[in-house]
Amino acid sequence: MEHNQLFDAIIIGGSYSGMSAALSLGRSLRKTLIIDDGKPCNRSTPHSHNFLTRDGATPGYIAEVAREQLGAYPTVSWLNQRAMHAKRDHDMFVVETGDNKIWHSKRLILAAGIKDLLPGTPGFVDSWGISVIHCPYCHGYEFREKRTGIWADAERTLHLAPLVRNLTADVCVFTDGKTVFDGEQRNKLRQLGIRILEQEIGSLEHENGRLKHIVLKDGQSVPLDTLYAAIPFEHHTAIHRELGCVETAQGYIQVDAFQKTTVPGVFACGDNSSGMRSVANAVLTGSVTGAMVNKELADEGLFAAMP
Ligand SMILES: Cc1cc2nc3c(=O)[nH]c(=O)nc-3n(C[C@H](O)[C@H](O)[C@H](O)COP(=O)(O)OP(=O)(O)OC[C@H]3O[C@@H](n4cnc5c(N)ncnc54)[C@H](O)[C@@H]3O)c2cc1C
Repeated sequence: MEHNQLFDAIIIGGSYSGMSAALSLGRSLRKTLIIDDGKPCNRSTPHSHNFLTRDGATPGYIAEVAREQLGAYPTVSWLNQRAMHAKRDHDMFVVETGDNKIWHSKRLILAAGIKDLLPGTPGFVDSWGISVIHCPYCHGYEFREKRTGIWADAERTLHLAPLVRNLTADVCVFTDGKTVFDGEQRNKLRQLGIRILEQEIGSLEHENGRLKHIVLKDGQSVPLDTLYAAIPFEHHTAIHRELGCVETAQGYIQVDAFQKTTVPGVFACGDNSSGMRSVANAVLTGSVTGAMVNKELADEGLFAAMP
């Protein structure tokens, strides 16, 4: 079914980045449609940290307050649906949702986040976001001075190691059966007092997501309170590719300082376009996006009105 209404902006993804973009747009009287299917990436974590005024709140509470505040802006509409496809049709974007409906807008904002590809190692999924974590700023303080592991490739391990070592003296690194470090990298880790365990990982033993041990395939059991895991990701949707948006070498949607993708009229914000993965960054980039979309539309209106 085709909807006649032309929105100023459609936002695909209604979590922190999408709602932040919508706030700037709603406050600018822009007709905005948020399309969201309700699966933010941090939903398994009991408490979210390091976002000013909401430190330690549940992820759901932060989203709930945001949604409530957005409700004050009558030009912002919400659709609980999955966006399936999007394309440009002359001056408009056409978005198709899972209920086979079609929506039109002048600008398109991609705020769909990323999907973590969790490994099948027993115990990993149950502990993800609870004691298996991705970032020292989000959860490191809660595990300060605890027995800590890092499971990542060499580059990410070397990035994380000094940050984690600053929080606790008890750190070991897992390579899961691979030889990932060269001599210089090994020396750096040794200088930090970090052990390297190169055996394959068998399972993560836990109680309700709280890590107890990592059991290696050679039978060794390593007592651990937390594990930093750097895992691969994919995009929730291929819509940015359908539109022709370029990706960075790391797989993020490429944006400029104004959150513009390489396709005119298409913006991206939040995790899908930045490796700095945090609620604060999602809110920041969303806010910039909303302002930039409004600026483009305002300039367009101004020039159109000129004789
Ligand atoms: C386990 C875990 C714990 C974390 N803890 C913290 C923390 O303590 N502090 C912190 O600052 N950060 C934390 N983060 C990072 C933070 O959660 C993210 O940076 C933030 O959620 C990114 O916001 P976003 O809006 O870009 O994406 P998300 O929050 O992931 O939201 C994307 C939204 O888009 C929707 N969507 C996707 N595809 C479609 C589609 N095709 N159609 C419609 N809707 C779609 C999804 O359903 C979802 O609602 C954590 C992340 C993880 C994974």
